[in-house]
Amino acid sequence: MIPFNKPFLTGKEAHYLYQAVYSGKISGNGIYTQKCQKFFEEKYSFKKTLLTTSCTDALEMAAILIDIQPDDEVIIPSFTFVSSANAFVLRGANIIFADSSKESPNIDVENIEKLITPRTKAIVIVHYAGIAVDMDKVMELAKKYNIFVIEDAAHSIDSYYKGHALGGIGHLGTFSFHETKNVISGEGGMLVVNDERFTKRAEIIWEKGTNRSAFHRGEVNKYGWMDIGSSFLPSEIVAAFLYAQLENLETIQHKRIWIWNRYFNDLKKLEDAGKVKLPVVPDYATLNGHMFYLICNSYSERNNLIGFLRDKGILSVFHYLSLHKSPFYKDKHKRGELIWSDYYERRLIRLPLFWELKEEEIDYIVKSVNEFYR
Ligand SMILES: *Cc1c(COP(=O)(O)O)cnc(C)c1O
Repeated sequence: MIPFNKPFLTGKEAHYLYQAVYSGKISGNGIYTQKCQKFFEEKYSFKKTLLTTSCTDALEMAAILIDIQPDDEVIIPSFTFVSSANAFVLRGANIIFADSSKESPNIDVENIEKLITPRTKAIVIVHYAGIAVDMDKVMELAKKYNIFVIEDAAHSIDSYYKGHALGGIGHLGTFSFHETKNVISGEGGMLVVNDERFTKRAEIIWEKGTNRSAFHRGEVNKYGWMDIGSSFLPSEIVAAFLYAQLENLETIQHKRIWIWNRYFNDLKKLEDAGKVKLPVVPDYATLNGHMFYLICNSYSERNNLIGFLRDKGILSVFHYLSLHKSPFYKDKHKRGELIWSDYYERRLIRLPLFWELKEEEIDYIVKSVNEFYR
């Protein structure tokens, strides 16, 4: 069976784990945490980064930082992972679900403005499959209406919009290092603080509401309770694992992008014949090889293709279920149908994409998809 995903190990993880364990400091914010944060700050010019135990946690930190109050409104695409919305619901926000666009599962930027009200506090952007949303338009709206932009960049490591690294454009950005992402630490994430107004408070929220980070730097001679917060920082064990991955980022990215292009070129004929649609990468966006998806012509066709591939020993999967129709939110959603979100829920299929995927396996997967459509 060809799995859908297989975690990639660089070989250095166990070594760094050992070093972290025997260094005498295993809790968070030690040497490996600093190394990882520095890596991101230097490579992508992120102003301030904080490792977290997940992207979900980073999103929860973002909701605290922008001071979400009950009944504030947050605009979020319906076609995303629950955490993009849940983090704000935890603080009492009302979620205004936005539709995807006709061209891609990304939020339809042209339709954001009509969702804005005097209660709108923030817009959450998800760069689906690591392919950028048109951020100039989003940031223009944010400026015009004085609202915050949070980039849920969980898919988007090492991807760019007009030369700017994703996650570094909105006021805040969040990343995931969950086992299913390009770079992993089992569970793990990161908050990126791009707006300097949030830097100091972010560190306090991260450290259970205390100024322990400032204390460790010797800036204050005792630390205490300064604000609300939680235990958002990962242990050095997680950071050590992550660092081994970051050292190999280029190798990982090179291979994943190669696989992505291989799929794209090999399946182009099928698109030209009108059988499927392939991902669209706008001029302003780059690829990061996070995910390769196809859009089928109907729900039943998509499900049959998944079944057909499974019979051939290939695990392909669908993706998000529209959040506005979820059991938890359907009665709270008051804005009618979101046809494009439902369209991607019903027609999108993701093909296996992981570092160890072999050329023969890609050929076999492409051949099998073609066979289905013959
Ligand atoms: C994976 C993912 C998350 C959650 O990441 P965790 O690190 O598992 O919390 C959030 N948003 C999106 C878009 C994701 O793909």
